[in-house]
Amino acid sequence: MMFLNPWQGALERMQALVQRLCAPSCGGRAAGTREGQEARALLIDALEGAGIEPAGPVGYLQPVPGCGGANVLAQVRGSGPYQDRLVLVCAHYDHLGWHTPGQEAFWGADDNAAALAITLELGRVLRAMPAGLGRTVLLCFFDGEEPPFFLTKGMGSEHFASRPTVPLSSIDLMICLDLVGHAVGPERLPAALRQSLFVLGAEKSEGTAALVDGLAEAVPGVRPVRLGIDLLPPLSDYHPFQKRGVPFLFLTCGRWRHYHQVTDTPDRLDYNKMLAIARWLEVLVRQVAQRPEPAVAFLPHGRDDQATLESLWTCLSLLVPWFARGRELLRRVEVLRHAARGRLLTAEELEQTALLVGEVEALLA
Ligand SMILES: [Zn+2]
Repeated sequence: MMFLNPWQGALERMQALVQRLCAPSCGGRAAGTREGQEARALLIDALEGAGIEPAGPVGYLQPVPGCGGANVLAQVRGSGPYQDRLVLVCAHYDHLGWHTPGQEAFWGADDNAAALAITLELGRVLRAMPAGLGRTVLLCFFDGEEPPFFLTKGMGSEHFASRPTVPLSSIDLMICLDLVGHAVGPERLPAALRQSLFVLGAEKSEGTAALVDGLAEAVPGVRPVRLGIDLLPPLSDYHPFQKRGVPFLFLTCGRWRHYHQVTDTPDRLDYNKMLAIARWLEVLVRQVAQRPEPAVAFLPHGRDDQATLESLWTCLSLLVPWFARGRELLRRVEVLRHAARGRLLTAEELEQTALLVGEVEALLA
Protein backbone atom coordinates (compact mmCIF):
# COMPACT_ATOMS: atom_id res chain seq x y z
CA MET A 1 0.00 0.00 0.00
CA MET A 2 1.19 3.48 -0.88
CA PHE A 3 1.05 6.31 1.64
CA LEU A 4 0.72 9.78 0.24
CA ASN A 5 2.92 12.34 1.90
CA PRO A 6 0.64 15.39 2.26
CA TRP A 7 3.68 17.68 2.33
CA GLN A 8 4.89 16.51 -1.07
CA GLY A 9 5.58 19.52 -3.28
CA ALA A 10 4.99 22.00 -0.43
CA LEU A 11 8.51 23.46 -0.61
CA GLU A 12 8.22 24.22 -4.32
CA ARG A 13 4.69 25.64 -3.92
CA MET A 14 5.86 27.91 -1.10
CA GLN A 15 8.79 29.17 -3.19
CA ALA A 16 6.51 29.86 -6.15
CA LEU A 17 3.91 31.71 -4.07
CA VAL A 18 6.52 33.87 -2.32
CA GLN A 19 7.95 34.78 -5.74
CA ARG A 20 4.54 35.81 -7.04
CA LEU A 21 3.68 37.81 -3.91
CA CYS A 22 7.02 39.62 -4.21
CA ALA A 23 6.71 40.35 -7.95
CA PRO A 24 6.26 43.92 -9.28
CA SER A 25 2.56 43.25 -9.97
CA CYS A 26 2.10 43.00 -6.18
CA GLY A 27 4.75 45.73 -5.60
CA GLY A 28 4.88 46.01 -1.84
CA ARG A 29 1.22 44.98 -1.29
CA ALA A 30 0.21 48.22 0.44
CA ALA A 31 -3.30 48.11 1.89
CA GLY A 32 -5.92 49.83 -0.24
CA THR A 33 -3.86 49.78 -3.46
CA ARG A 34 -4.10 47.88 -6.74
CA GLU A 35 -1.04 45.89 -5.69
CA GLY A 36 -2.77 44.93 -2.44
CA GLN A 37 -5.76 43.79 -4.46
CA GLU A 38 -3.50 41.71 -6.68
CA ALA A 39 -1.99 39.96 -3.64
CA ARG A 40 -5.50 39.28 -2.35
CA ALA A 41 -6.47 37.73 -5.70
CA LEU A 42 -3.40 35.45 -5.54
CA LEU A 43 -4.36 34.24 -2.07
CA ILE A 44 -7.97 33.55 -3.06
CA ASP A 45 -6.74 31.70 -6.13
CA ALA A 46 -4.48 29.51 -3.98
CA LEU A 47 -7.27 28.83 -1.47
CA GLU A 48 -9.69 27.85 -4.24
CA GLY A 49 -7.04 25.68 -5.85
CA ALA A 50 -6.55 23.82 -2.57
CA GLY A 51 -10.31 23.43 -2.09
CA ILE A 52 -10.32 25.37 1.19
CA GLU A 53 -13.77 26.81 1.77
CA PRO A 54 -14.49 30.54 2.21
CA ALA A 55 -15.40 31.83 5.67
CA GLY A 56 -15.92 35.55 5.10
CA PRO A 57 -19.16 37.51 5.08
CA VAL A 58 -18.65 38.04 1.31
CA GLY A 59 -17.14 34.81 -0.01
CA TYR A 60 -13.57 34.83 1.22
CA LEU A 61 -13.68 38.56 1.95
CA GLN A 62 -14.29 40.72 4.97
CA PRO A 63 -13.92 44.31 3.75
CA VAL A 64 -11.87 46.59 6.01
CA PRO A 65 -13.12 50.14 5.29
CA GLY A 66 -10.48 51.72 7.54
CA CYS A 67 -7.64 50.73 5.18
CA GLY A 68 -9.59 50.42 1.94
CA GLY A 69 -8.77 46.72 1.70
CA ALA A 70 -10.13 43.41 2.97
CA ASN A 71 -9.30 40.43 5.13
CA VAL A 72 -9.31 37.02 3.45
CA LEU A 73 -10.97 34.31 5.57
CA ALA A 74 -11.14 30.56 4.95
CA GLN A 75 -11.73 27.46 7.02
CA VAL A 76 -11.28 23.73 7.40
CA ARG A 77 -14.17 22.33 9.40
CA GLY A 78 -13.63 20.09 12.39
CA SER A 79 -15.97 17.36 13.50
CA GLY A 80 -17.26 16.13 16.85
CA PRO A 81 -18.63 17.85 19.94
CA TYR A 82 -16.24 20.83 19.66
CA GLN A 83 -16.59 21.49 15.94
CA ASP A 84 -17.97 24.97 16.64
CA ARG A 85 -14.89 25.89 18.63
CA LEU A 86 -11.96 27.34 16.74
CA VAL A 87 -8.24 27.40 16.25
CA LEU A 88 -7.42 30.58 14.34
CA VAL A 89 -4.20 30.80 12.31
CA CYS A 90 -3.35 34.20 10.86
CA ALA A 91 -0.77 36.10 8.84
CA HIS A 92 -1.02 39.65 7.49
CA TYR A 93 -0.61 39.91 3.71
CA ASP A 94 -0.09 43.65 3.31
CA HIS A 95 3.31 45.32 3.33
CA LEU A 96 4.85 48.77 2.89
CA GLY A 97 4.29 49.40 -0.83
CA TRP A 98 6.70 50.98 -3.27
CA HIS A 99 10.01 52.52 -2.29
CA THR A 100 10.58 54.03 -5.74
CA PRO A 101 7.31 53.68 -7.68
CA GLY A 102 7.58 51.23 -10.55
CA GLN A 103 11.18 50.32 -9.71
CA GLU A 104 11.97 49.32 -6.16
CA ALA A 105 9.42 48.08 -3.66
CA PHE A 106 9.48 46.88 -0.11
CA TRP A 107 9.03 43.33 -1.36
CA GLY A 108 8.24 41.83 2.05
CA ALA A 109 9.36 38.23 1.47
CA ASP A 110 9.92 37.54 5.16
CA ASP A 111 7.29 40.15 6.11
CA ASN A 112 5.00 38.43 5.44
CA ALA A 113 4.89 36.38 2.21
CA ALA A 114 6.65 33.49 3.98
CA ALA A 115 3.89 33.28 6.60
CA LEU A 116 1.20 33.34 3.90
CA ALA A 117 2.84 30.41 2.11
CA ILE A 118 3.15 28.45 5.38
CA THR A 119 -0.48 29.11 6.35
CA LEU A 120 -1.71 28.05 2.91
CA GLU A 121 0.25 24.80 3.03
CA LEU A 122 -1.10 24.12 6.51
CA GLY A 123 -4.62 24.65 5.17
CA ARG A 124 -3.96 22.35 2.24
CA VAL A 125 -2.74 19.53 4.49
CA LEU A 126 -5.60 19.90 6.99
CA ARG A 127 -8.09 19.98 4.13
CA ALA A 128 -6.58 16.76 2.70
CA MET A 129 -6.55 15.02 6.10
CA PRO A 130 -9.34 16.45 8.26
CA ALA A 131 -9.74 13.22 10.28
CA GLY A 132 -9.24 13.82 13.99
CA LEU A 133 -9.67 17.58 13.67
CA GLY A 134 -11.98 18.17 16.65
CA ARG A 135 -12.16 21.93 16.26
CA THR A 136 -12.59 24.05 13.15
CA VAL A 137 -9.47 25.79 11.86
CA LEU A 138 -10.05 29.34 10.68
CA LEU A 139 -7.36 30.79 8.40
CA CYS A 140 -7.19 34.60 8.45
CA PHE A 141 -5.09 36.62 6.04
CA PHE A 142 -5.27 40.11 7.48
CA ASP A 143 -4.89 43.38 5.60
CA GLY A 144 -3.62 46.70 7.00
CA GLU A 145 -1.11 45.43 9.57
CA GLU A 146 1.69 47.75 8.50
CA PRO A 147 1.96 51.50 9.12
CA PRO A 148 0.01 53.76 8.85
CA PHE A 149 -2.74 51.34 9.93
CA PHE A 150 -0.93 49.45 12.71
CA LEU A 151 -3.03 49.54 15.92
CA THR A 152 -5.68 51.75 14.28
CA LYS A 153 -9.23 50.94 13.16
CA GLY A 154 -7.82 50.32 9.68
CA MET A 155 -5.76 47.38 10.92
CA GLY A 156 -7.38 44.22 9.48
CA SER A 157 -6.98 42.18 12.67
CA GLU A 158 -8.39 45.02 14.79
CA HIS A 159 -11.35 45.24 12.44
CA PHE A 160 -11.90 41.47 12.65
CA ALA A 161 -11.67 41.50 16.45
CA SER A 162 -14.12 44.40 16.75
CA ARG A 163 -16.55 42.91 14.19
CA PRO A 164 -15.84 39.21 14.47
CA THR A 165 -17.45 36.80 12.02
CA VAL A 166 -17.46 34.19 14.82
CA PRO A 167 -17.83 34.74 18.58
CA LEU A 168 -14.39 35.61 19.97
CA SER A 169 -15.27 33.40 22.95
CA SER A 170 -15.27 30.38 20.61
CA ILE A 171 -11.55 30.80 19.81
CA ASP A 172 -9.42 28.44 21.91
CA LEU A 173 -6.16 29.66 20.38
CA MET A 174 -5.22 32.31 17.83
CA ILE A 175 -1.81 31.70 16.30
CA CYS A 176 -0.17 34.71 14.67
CA LEU A 177 2.72 34.30 12.22
CA ASP A 178 4.97 37.22 11.36
CA LEU A 179 8.58 37.15 10.08
CA VAL A 180 8.79 33.36 9.92
CA GLY A 181 10.81 32.90 6.73
CA HIS A 182 14.42 33.35 7.79
CA ALA A 183 17.17 31.51 9.60
CA VAL A 184 18.21 33.27 12.80
CA GLY A 185 21.62 34.96 12.78
CA PRO A 186 24.56 34.79 10.36
CA GLU A 187 25.40 31.62 8.44
CA ARG A 188 28.32 30.65 10.65
CA LEU A 189 26.07 30.11 13.69
CA PRO A 190 25.13 26.57 14.76
CA ALA A 191 21.98 25.03 13.27
CA ALA A 192 20.40 24.79 16.72
CA LEU A 193 20.28 28.59 16.77
CA ARG A 194 19.47 29.22 13.13
CA GLN A 195 16.47 26.90 13.39
CA SER A 196 14.96 28.87 16.30
CA LEU A 197 11.30 29.81 16.16
CA PHE A 198 10.36 32.22 18.95
CA VAL A 199 7.01 31.35 20.52
CA LEU A 200 5.52 34.14 22.62
CA GLY A 201 2.39 34.37 24.74
CA ALA A 202 1.96 30.72 25.76
CA GLU A 203 1.91 31.85 29.41
CA LYS A 204 -1.32 33.79 28.76
CA SER A 205 -3.60 30.74 28.45
CA GLU A 206 -4.17 27.61 30.49
CA GLY A 207 -2.18 24.58 29.36
CA THR A 208 -0.68 26.19 26.24
CA ALA A 209 2.87 26.44 27.60
CA ALA A 210 2.92 22.74 28.52
CA LEU A 211 1.59 21.89 25.08
CA VAL A 212 4.30 23.94 23.31
CA ASP A 213 7.03 22.54 25.58
CA GLY A 214 5.86 19.04 24.71
CA LEU A 215 6.55 19.82 21.05
CA ALA A 216 10.14 21.01 21.58
CA GLU A 217 11.51 18.27 19.36
CA ALA A 218 8.39 17.37 17.41
CA VAL A 219 9.81 18.26 13.98
CA PRO A 220 13.47 18.24 12.90
CA GLY A 221 14.66 21.53 11.41
CA VAL A 222 12.79 23.83 13.78
CA ARG A 223 13.45 24.59 17.43
CA PRO A 224 10.64 26.38 19.30
CA VAL A 225 11.98 28.84 21.88
CA ARG A 226 9.48 30.21 24.40
CA LEU A 227 9.56 33.86 25.49
CA GLY A 228 7.14 35.97 27.56
CA ILE A 229 4.96 38.36 25.53
CA ASP A 230 5.14 41.10 28.21
CA LEU A 231 8.79 41.78 27.33
CA LEU A 232 7.89 43.36 24.01
CA PRO A 233 5.62 46.17 22.83
CA PRO A 234 2.65 45.12 20.63
CA LEU A 235 4.24 43.83 17.42
CA SER A 236 1.63 42.13 15.29
CA ASP A 237 -1.94 40.92 14.76
CA TYR A 238 -2.15 39.01 18.05
CA HIS A 239 -2.54 42.28 19.96
CA PRO A 240 -6.23 43.04 19.17
CA PHE A 241 -7.03 39.50 20.35
CA GLN A 242 -4.85 39.61 23.45
CA LYS A 243 -6.50 42.82 24.63
CA ARG A 244 -9.92 41.14 24.27
CA GLY A 245 -8.91 38.08 26.29
CA VAL A 246 -8.47 35.54 23.48
CA PRO A 247 -5.77 32.86 24.06
CA PHE A 248 -2.99 33.44 21.55
CA LEU A 249 0.52 32.56 20.41
CA PHE A 250 2.87 34.77 18.44
CA LEU A 251 5.35 32.85 16.26
CA THR A 252 8.31 34.75 14.80
CA CYS A 253 11.97 34.37 13.87
CA GLY A 254 12.48 37.95 15.10
CA ARG A 255 13.41 41.20 13.43
CA TRP A 256 16.56 40.96 11.31
CA ARG A 257 18.68 43.29 9.22
CA HIS A 258 16.28 43.10 6.24
CA TYR A 259 13.24 43.97 8.35
CA HIS A 260 11.28 46.77 6.58
CA GLN A 261 14.06 47.17 3.99
CA VAL A 262 13.97 46.79 0.20
CA THR A 263 16.40 43.90 0.71
CA ASP A 264 13.65 41.68 2.21
CA THR A 265 13.61 39.50 -0.92
CA PRO A 266 12.66 35.85 -1.70
CA ASP A 267 16.29 34.72 -2.23
CA ARG A 268 17.10 35.46 1.43
CA LEU A 269 14.51 33.07 2.88
CA ASP A 270 15.23 29.63 4.30
CA TYR A 271 12.62 27.45 2.59
CA ASN A 272 13.64 24.28 4.43
CA LYS A 273 13.07 26.04 7.73
CA MET A 274 9.71 27.29 6.46
CA LEU A 275 8.69 23.74 5.61
CA ALA A 276 9.75 22.61 9.10
CA ILE A 277 7.74 25.45 10.65
CA ALA A 278 4.68 24.50 8.58
CA ARG A 279 4.95 20.88 9.72
CA TRP A 280 5.43 21.94 13.33
CA LEU A 281 2.40 24.20 13.02
CA GLU A 282 0.34 21.26 11.78
CA VAL A 283 1.26 19.24 14.86
CA LEU A 284 0.48 22.18 17.13
CA VAL A 285 -2.86 22.96 15.47
CA ARG A 286 -3.97 19.31 15.57
CA GLN A 287 -3.13 19.08 19.26
CA VAL A 288 -5.02 22.26 20.11
CA ALA A 289 -7.93 21.09 17.95
CA GLN A 290 -8.10 17.91 20.03
CA ARG A 291 -7.85 19.49 23.49
CA PRO A 292 -10.31 17.68 25.76
CA GLU A 293 -11.57 20.68 27.74
CA PRO A 294 -14.63 22.56 26.40
CA ALA A 295 -12.78 25.89 26.36
CA VAL A 296 -9.21 27.12 26.90
CA ALA A 297 -8.96 29.75 29.66
CA PHE A 298 -7.20 33.09 29.05
CA LEU A 299 -4.78 34.10 31.82
CA PRO A 300 -4.48 37.91 31.69
CA HIS A 301 -1.73 37.97 34.33
CA GLY A 302 0.00 34.78 33.20
CA ARG A 303 3.80 34.89 33.46
CA ASP A 304 6.61 32.41 33.02
CA ASP A 305 9.82 34.30 33.75
CA GLN A 306 11.73 31.08 34.18
CA ALA A 307 10.93 29.86 30.67
CA THR A 308 12.01 33.21 29.21
CA LEU A 309 15.33 33.14 31.05
CA GLU A 310 16.01 29.50 30.21
CA SER A 311 15.46 30.39 26.53
CA LEU A 312 17.75 33.41 26.75
CA TRP A 313 20.37 31.36 28.54
CA THR A 314 20.27 28.59 25.92
CA CYS A 315 20.53 31.08 23.03
CA LEU A 316 23.40 32.96 24.65
CA SER A 317 25.38 29.85 25.54
CA LEU A 318 25.26 28.94 21.85
CA LEU A 319 26.29 32.49 20.90
CA VAL A 320 29.23 32.88 23.28
CA PRO A 321 31.87 31.32 20.99
CA TRP A 322 30.84 33.68 18.15
CA PHE A 323 30.36 37.06 19.79
CA ALA A 324 32.76 38.71 22.23
CA ARG A 325 29.80 40.43 23.82
CA GLY A 326 28.01 37.13 24.41
CA ARG A 327 29.86 36.29 27.61
CA GLU A 328 28.88 39.49 29.38
CA LEU A 329 25.24 39.09 28.35
CA LEU A 330 25.30 35.49 29.51
CA ARG A 331 26.55 36.57 32.93
CA ARG A 332 23.67 39.05 33.24
CA VAL A 333 21.18 36.36 32.22
CA GLU A 334 22.63 33.94 34.77
CA VAL A 335 21.96 36.35 37.64
CA LEU A 336 18.33 36.81 36.55
CA ARG A 337 17.88 33.13 35.81
CA HIS A 338 18.98 32.33 39.35
CA ALA A 339 16.53 34.92 40.75
CA ALA A 340 13.67 33.50 38.66
CA ARG A 341 14.00 30.07 40.28
CA GLY A 342 11.29 29.93 42.89
CA ARG A 343 9.88 33.47 42.55
CA LEU A 344 8.59 35.98 40.01
CA LEU A 345 10.99 38.69 38.91
CA THR A 346 10.63 42.21 40.27
CA ALA A 347 9.61 45.04 37.93
CA GLU A 348 13.23 46.13 37.73
CA GLU A 349 14.45 42.61 36.92
CA LEU A 350 11.76 42.31 34.25
CA GLU A 351 13.01 45.53 32.70
CA GLN A 352 16.55 44.12 32.67
CA THR A 353 15.23 40.94 31.03
CA ALA A 354 13.46 42.99 28.34
CA LEU A 355 16.72 44.86 27.66
CA LEU A 356 18.55 41.56 27.31
CA VAL A 357 15.96 40.26 24.83
CA GLY A 358 16.58 43.42 22.79
CA GLU A 359 20.36 42.94 22.96
CA VAL A 360 20.15 39.30 21.86
CA GLU A 361 17.84 40.29 18.99
CA ALA A 362 20.31 42.99 17.92
CA LEU A 363 23.22 40.54 18.14
CA LEU A 364 21.37 38.07 15.91
CA ALA A 365 20.14 40.65 13.38
ZN1 LIG B 1 4.88 41.78 9.54
